[in-house]
Amino acid sequence: MSKADCPHENFGVFAEVNRITDAQPLTAFAVDLTVRCADCQLEFEFLGDFPGGIHCETTTLSPDRARLSIPIKPRGQEWIGRYRGFSVHSKLPPSGGNA
Ligand SMILES: [Zn+2]
Repeated sequence: MSKADCPHENFGVFAEVNRITDAQPLTAFAVDLTVRCADCQLEFEFLGDFPGGIHCETTTLSPDRARLSIPIKPRGQEWIGRYRGFSVHSKLPPSGGNA
């Protein structure tokens, strides 16, 4: 079955939790999410208006819209994030020509 013929009925969600370090031992946490069709392996794109870059207080989106990076922290613990990072604001249309 080709990617064009696949009805995309099963999915794999990949979550990668990152411990972001800078000059300090630990400065922030973030979870990066990607989604693929489990049958044809086609990567999904996240829709919506998110900035690009890496930031400890703002959800960011990779330029190809395939990876969403969400800042997180341990529940009940004081916010330890000190890494501000950077974000790039632009309007990225979904790829594939459906915009
Ligand atoms: Zn598929």
